[in-house]
Amino acid sequence: MNTYQRIVLAARPKGEVQPENFRLESLPLPSCGEGEVLVRNQFLSLDPYMRGRMSDAKSYAAPQPLDETMIGGTVGQVIESRNPRFAVGDTVVGMFGWSEIGLSDGALLRKVDTTHIPASAYLGAVGMPGMTAWYGLNHIMKPKAGETVAVSAASGAVGSVVGQLAKLQGCRVVGIAGGKEKCDYVVNELGFDGCVDYKAGNLRADLKAAAPDGIDAIFENVGGEVFDAALGRTNAFARIALCGMIAGYNGEDIPLKNARLLLTNRLLVQGFIVTEHMELWPQGLKELGQLVAAGKLKFRESVAEGLAAAPDAFIGLLKGRNFGKQLVRLS
Ligand code: NDP
Repeated sequence: MNTYQRIVLAARPKGEVQPENFRLESLPLPSCGEGEVLVRNQFLSLDPYMRGRMSDAKSYAAPQPLDETMIGGTVGQVIESRNPRFAVGDTVVGMFGWSEIGLSDGALLRKVDTTHIPASAYLGAVGMPGMTAWYGLNHIMKPKAGETVAVSAASGAVGSVVGQLAKLQGCRVVGIAGGKEKCDYVVNELGFDGCVDYKAGNLRADLKAAAPDGIDAIFENVGGEVFDAALGRTNAFARIALCGMIAGYNGEDIPLKNARLLLTNRLLVQGFIVTEHMELWPQGLKELGQLVAAGKLKFRESVAEGLAAAPDAFIGLLKGRNFGKQLVRLS
């Protein structure tokens, strides 16, 4: 094989992402220079943050440049190495983007052990999404045993880890997710105490029934009505880790009717970006890896086949079509 494929950002979306925003390209296989490592990517991670990068609105991170490889986390195997830190066959996690091949000087590549943890998990529960859950829970929500924790997008890559970690800490955990199948999974497979289907039409009443003693800490992934309903159930001095607002990523309004409770309930709200806390990643990833290897932290994946399927899978992720961590298998 002398060529490989990649996907570039062809045009910035106006509102919802469309397939035309992407372009699949074939390129000649790069040669591996002195000190470099050539990697065949096995899995690409699709993540909601990519929607933000596709836009050029002011944000915490620079926009994805047009006509360049879409940003993205990858895990793959070294196929050629002229860097003493890596050998052919090593499994490495990197940021090679929506591309079958990656070339690196090794600086930002992390070698991982797949003996007890599958390679794909390094993009999910033992990767950036897992770290996001770990950070928000342990450094912002800081729940005590017996407290009630609520988490939205509960069946997803981040939410599923939040709830399981909170259960391990002795909390009562209530998820919010879209649809009965996702809610059943969250309760029956992940061990949450309850899960409210926000699409069923009784969000506020169902949340009241699922959290009869109120909510002491929220991990917010969605925003909009889902967040507002959880806010409406907060107890005094509840802590809120504001992780994502996916309900507003296409520019939708995400109003808060219960905003007054921020004051009257003396709530602590902290937004955060997990990549601004890199100093904690070694500790967090170690803990998450141990839990996955021991079977105490479960995860589920939606896997799209082949790079060409990535745009559709990404569009699906932004509409809740994924069930668990969304990946693309590249080889
Ligand atoms: P998920 O695996 O949870 O997938 C996204 C889920 O969001 C969908 O499955 C769907 O779940 C839900 N969703 C999608 N669109 C909507 C919508 N319009 N309204 C309500 N729910 C919607 O993704 P991740 O676990 O990777 O990410 C979860 C959140 O965490 C995102 O908001 C993301 O941006 C954020 N994040 C933030 C980070 C940070 O550093 N702050 C780092 C990583 C992620 P359902 O079917 O249940 O509605």
